[in-house]
Amino acid sequence: MVTDRRPYGCAALSGGSPTLRAMTEICARRPALSPSRAADFKQCPLLYRFRALDRLPETPSRSQVRGTVVHAVLERLFALSPDRRDAEAGRELVAPAWRDVLAGSPELAGLFAGPEDPELAEWLDSARALVDAYFALEDPRLIQPEACELLVEAELGADGDERPLLLRGYIDRLDVAPSGEIRVVDYKSGTAPRGLFEAKALFQMKFYALVLLRIRGVVPRQLRLLYLADRQALSYTPDEAELIRFERTLVAIWSAIQRAARSGDFRPNPSRMCDWCDHKPRCPAFGGTCPPYPGWPDLFGAGTQTARDQAE
Ligand code: SF4
Repeated sequence: MVTDRRPYGCAALSGGSPTLRAMTEICARRPALSPSRAADFKQCPLLYRFRALDRLPETPSRSQVRGTVVHAVLERLFALSPDRRDAEAGRELVAPAWRDVLAGSPELAGLFAGPEDPELAEWLDSARALVDAYFALEDPRLIQPEACELLVEAELGADGDERPLLLRGYIDRLDVAPSGEIRVVDYKSGTAPRGLFEAKALFQMKFYALVLLRIRGVVPRQLRLLYLADRQALSYTPDEAELIRFERTLVAIWSAIQRAARSGDFRPNPSRMCDWCDHKPRCPAFGGTCPPYPGWPDLFGAGTQTARDQAE
């Protein structure tokens, strides 16, 4: 992976793909695998079960919700005409974005003592600082995305009697140059990762690259992660051979999920990540008791990416 702190002076990225949008809407309610849920299963099969099958609620932290708000701001920024996409406009979008996130998830009001809580004002300022950081990495006036918050899906063949594997994810931003070259951009409200976390970020981006390869027949030219907290940009250029290998990895993960789904045997895999797991109190690895196994869902979107996933 290459670290690149330069603003991306992309002059004329544009394009449109009604075919892609149509494809993304076909199977929106079928069980699918997202990069976040695939990573969950790799990390801990029981965590996958709790999130994708039991769909147990989790309590997002202030920093996770702030990430959701910042994503909403950056999406709305690109809905403005290019000449209006400046830092001030970005900062002004923060409070309305928070109000809309709150309207969609009223329980988030509990993160603060009330609308007059001084910590809410500080938190909104910290979101504005992340939006400011975005402008240190890119000049959005020079970028015309093909899409923001794009739902993409691709179906892969399955082994034997396995259910077909439907890959599903949300791409923060898709830029397409007149030459047809594709850039996948993902915003992160945290700092640039190291070691294990870097591999996790790359896993997510390869996932998107593979989906685009399967639905468009094109290997994205660049996968770009923008880490706002420390104003770092990481870029990666995938090649087709590694995406094909990655596809085999996803098929193997899906097969393992299906085997566990048949038996109900989703084992805990304790690690230091358990310190951040909402489900520790019910986890047998820590003396807890699992709720009854709910079985495999038929219709709703097991594995769908959530706002919390997006913020991480
Ligand atoms: S506490 Fe650890 S082992 Fe248990 S479900 Fe969570 S991540 Fe898995």
